[in-house]
Amino acid sequence: MDTVLILMHVEKDAGLAKSALEALGAAKDVAEAGGADLAVGLVGESLQVAANLIAGCGASRFLGVEGAEFGHSRYGSDIAAAEAVCRAVNPTMVIAPATSRWNRVVAGLAHRLGGRADTHVTDLVAAEGGATITRWYYRQRMEAVLQRTQRPWVIVLETGCHAPWTGDVGTVKIELVTATVPVAAKRTAVIGVKAPTSGQQTIRPDAELLFVAGAGWTKKQSDGQAHAPEAESLIRGFLQLTNASLGSSKSLVDLSKDGQAVLTLMTHLNQIGQTGSTPRHLKGLSTCCHGEEPHAVGWRFISERRAVNLDPNCGWARGKTDVLYVADAFEVMRKVNALLAAKPAR
Ligand SMILES: Cc1cc2nc3c(=O)[nH]c(=O)nc-3n(C[C@H](O)[C@H](O)[C@H](O)COP(=O)(O)OP(=O)(O)OC[C@H]3O[C@@H](n4cnc5c(N)ncnc54)[C@H](O)[C@@H]3O)c2cc1C
Repeated sequence: MDTVLILMHVEKDAGLAKSALEALGAAKDVAEAGGADLAVGLVGESLQVAANLIAGCGASRFLGVEGAEFGHSRYGSDIAAAEAVCRAVNPTMVIAPATSRWNRVVAGLAHRLGGRADTHVTDLVAAEGGATITRWYYRQRMEAVLQRTQRPWVIVLETGCHAPWTGDVGTVKIELVTATVPVAAKRTAVIGVKAPTSGQQTIRPDAELLFVAGAGWTKKQSDGQAHAPEAESLIRGFLQLTNASLGSSKSLVDLSKDGQAVLTLMTHLNQIGQTGSTPRHLKGLSTCCHGEEPHAVGWRFISERRAVNLDPNCGWARGKTDVLYVADAFEVMRKVNALLAAKPAR
């Protein structure tokens, strides 16, 4: 019988991330539809709390590699742990969430196991004649549906592409697996985490709304002056009031290297588009951004789109947004923030 193994790493708070639960949901669906066994593989400093959280997922086995040296991301120990779990389960399919930890090791893992790996998978379906995956090519312009004959097939599922698994907690008996990490694989030591943003985390993949700022926020306005500090305070205020995620156009994040007025809360990690990211928030609001194709292509998965721009002929006006407000974003956001601040807290 085929076995689907879901690989997850445990978070710092001993729980599981939403992306892990999404991958678990997909693994469970594909195992059930294909009549395969489901096995859970956990990696982390301590596993019991996380395993108990997913006790009701229907897995026939819960295995794990536990210990302080598996509590943080490092190629040498992560791949050793993943390989040990895979060798104990001998799965036909391995599914993992698209975290930086798993994205980094899956190619090596597939190589060690004699299988194949696919990353950036956006859909996984148990079809007649075997499972299929969907992924995008050429910067999200072409979609392909693929099958593979090689086994094990290691699949890394992007976040936001499947409903997270929910179900009963319980008490799980974990089969602990020993992973040997050679000394040479321990040369990297994680000494801390440096957050990319100054003081405030602005990239929030789980937020309902994506707020995008464009270079217009730093351009001279109708009074002949640029108002970058006010722009920054309006954007920061909106993020605090809504918990939206912050995206940017390339022009805005490139300004710092051109020595122009900048928004200090923005880094290249915020960039959306062809050479940036392709987020999956339900709604998006673009402000002071022209909506050119290399930027708008990054909005492919945003279902409801609105934009504020002074220019009625901007790119957004050409069918790229559901609603375009031809207006001054400074005025609009001042008003929006005032209305949000006056709203009773939910
Ligand atoms: C190979 C390649 C890859 C690229 N990849 C990306 C990418 O990944 N992501 C990306 O974003 N770009 C990318 N670009 C660049 C892209 O083509 C645009 O140059 C960029 O998106 C423009 O950014 P912008 O709209 O913020 O700035 P601008 O083009 O300068 O537009 C500013 C806008 O702000 C508006 N505005 C000004 N003041 C106000 C106000 N008060 N209220 C309302 N609106 C106002 C203006 O009307 C204008 O439309 C790429 C380009 C190339 C060639």
